Order: sequence, then structure tokens, then C-alpha cells
Amino acid sequence: MKTAFFSTKSYDREYFDKSRELEGHDITYFEVPLNVHTARLAEGYDAVCIFVNDIADTETIHKLASLGVKAIALRCAGFNNVNLKTAYENGIKVVRVPAYSPEAVAEHAVALILTLNRKTHRAYNRVREGNFSIENLTGFNLYKKTIGVVGTGLIGTAFCRIMLGFGCKVVAFDIRQNQELIEKGVIYEPLEKVLFESDIISLHCPLNPSTAHMIDKNAIDKMKNGVMVINTSRGGLVNSIDTIEGLKNGKIGYLGIDVYEQESELFFKDLSEMVIQDDVMARLISFPNVLVTGHLGFFTKEALEEITRITLQNLSDLDAGRSLQNEVPYTA
Ligand code: NAD
Repeated sequence: MKTAFFSTKSYDREYFDKSRELEGHDITYFEVPLNVHTARLAEGYDAVCIFVNDIADTETIHKLASLGVKAIALRCAGFNNVNLKTAYENGIKVVRVPAYSPEAVAEHAVALILTLNRKTHRAYNRVREGNFSIENLTGFNLYKKTIGVVGTGLIGTAFCRIMLGFGCKVVAFDIRQNQELIEKGVIYEPLEKVLFESDIISLHCPLNPSTAHMIDKNAIDKMKNGVMVINTSRGGLVNSIDTIEGLKNGKIGYLGIDVYEQESELFFKDLSEMVIQDDVMARLISFPNVLVTGHLGFFTKEALEEITRITLQNLSDLDAGRSLQNEVPYTA
């Protein structure tokens, strides 16, 4: 199976090249992202392997199909960047890595919470400057706080378990309830109630037409004053302009984001010598109570090993014509 890998970085090449499952795979690594302009690079390949910010929209998929590409293998869980209908209509199979390490992302959400709350990022910088003052570094106890979780799938479940361990009250909203979490003490409630009650709200649902901009002015108005909002899921869940308003008027006390709606222009790139052209991001990072990480929730050794193993397994299954365990189905 000849596969063109798009948006590859040194760590992708490192993990795939050293994988024991690599034998029999013919991989070419491209650094450029997949989009309608770069799709022609897939000429002569059976499959393309893509990541979170590659764009497999209608036009791109038509181009891939005309080049004879038969499969799109996502080396991530989310698939909001693939037009499944067009893929299906063109006989292109779509596979993904549904669960490589839910704990990696859940633990990153907790890292954002603890950093914002206990201001360890600011304390670190102060001490490096010889400033041991603790003025304005007051935090709050997580113990007995109410944590609102939106989406209790694999990552949300791992996140709930950790927060229960802190002695928090965990309330959740999902279109499906997880009995195991209810037994552990998680209380499912309507979204409005979760927004209203929570001291910290963490998003773990997928981006789709029903969840796009679910956190907008209307939702923010329902939240507690000084709420902490954490998004490690997909940038499009949140209206960034509305969060800026919420931060300016103090409704949002803390914002931690690992994802951002326009992240494809910024994330995974070193722009340190350039002027940031995205005024919304420039404003967001100017707040002292905002923490932005560049989509690294997934980025642990264990997760990279699993992403590599499952992606190669998916490609082998495609090649052998076996039933696809990790196919993303299209339902009209
Ligand atoms: P999952 O499919 O196991 O869980 C998603 C949950 O969201 C499900 O329980 C589903 O019922 C629920 N849901 C669907 N629509 C909803 C709605 N309208 N309101 C509330 N809940 C809804 O997925 P997962 O593995 O837990 O991943 C969740 C998301 O995390 C992914 O979609 C992806 O966007 C994101 N993610 C981010 C990173 C990162 O590095 N930051 C890594 C992996 C995944």
C-alpha cells in the first residue's frame, strides 16, 4: 500500500519509522498540509494519511478520487475536516484512530486548569527573574468545586474520573449517558443547568453542525461570574469573539484552550520571528488569565505510539481488504 502522509513533523517520521508494524508499508512523508492545492502530490498513491488541520473537503476529495486514491487514513480521532458524503460518493474509505489515549487529552485539560488556577506559569517566570513575591498569585481549591463536562465519551470519561479524584462535584451533559460515570457519582443535567452551576466547564464533545459555537454569548451569559472555560476538543465549539467579550467584562475568569477555530494558520508552526496576523488570537494571548497551547493535548509518548500502531493497522486492513474496525461511516 502506497500512502502519502501530509502535514508530517519530525515526531511523526520518528514514530512511524521506528514502528515494528512498518514492514510492508510504502510511506512518503510530505510536510505540506493536504488541501485542494496540494492534493496532486497524492498521484500514484493508494491512500493519504492526514491530521487535524488537513482539509479533505469536496474539491480536495474529487481531486484525490481523480488521482486514484482509495482511502483517507486520519491519524487522529476527530474527522470534522473530512467531507464524509463526498468520500462515500467517490468510493473513498475513511478510517481514523478513535482512541489512542483518552488520558493524554484529559490530563492536558487538567494541566490547563491547574496552571490557570494556581498560576504556576507566572510563578515560574517570576522566580527566574529573582522575584519570589506571591502577590496576585492567589488560586482556589478544586476540592468541592463543581466541574461541568460537556461530552462524556472516552476523553470526557477520563476527565470526569480525574476530577472526581480531586473531590469535585462533577455534572455533565451528553446526548448519551454513561452508566459507569453515574455509578461513580457524575450527575447528568441539561446543558443550561451545567453552564449555570459550574465553576469550571470543560468541553469534550465533537465538532459538528449541532455543536458548532455552542459556547457563544448566549451560553456565556448563563455561566457563573468568573467561570473557567477549558476547550481541548475543537476550536469551532467556541465563538472566540464572544469569549473575548466575556473575558473583558469579567464573566469569564479564566480561559484555557488547546484548540482554536482558525488554528490551521497558526498551530504546529514556529511563527516566533513573525508578526501574528490573527487579531483574535493576538487579543486572546494578551490576557493574563488566558492560557493557549497549540493543540498538544494528544502529544504524549504513549499516544504517539498508539496513533502509529493503529494507523498502520488501518492501512494494512485497507490493503488486505479486511473489514475495517475503525472506519468512519457516512450516514445520510
Ligand atoms: P468520543 O466520541 O468518545 O466522545 C464524544 C462524546 O461527545 C460522546 O459521548 C458523544 O455522545 C458526545 N456528544 C456528541 N454530540 C454532543 C452534543 N451535541 N452535546 C454533548 N455531547 C455530545 O470522542 P473522544 O475521544 O472523547 O474525543 C472528543 C473530542 O476531543 C474529539 O471529537 C476531538 O475533537 C477532540 N480531541 C482533541 C485532541 C487534542 O489533542 N486536543 C485529541 C483527541 C481528540
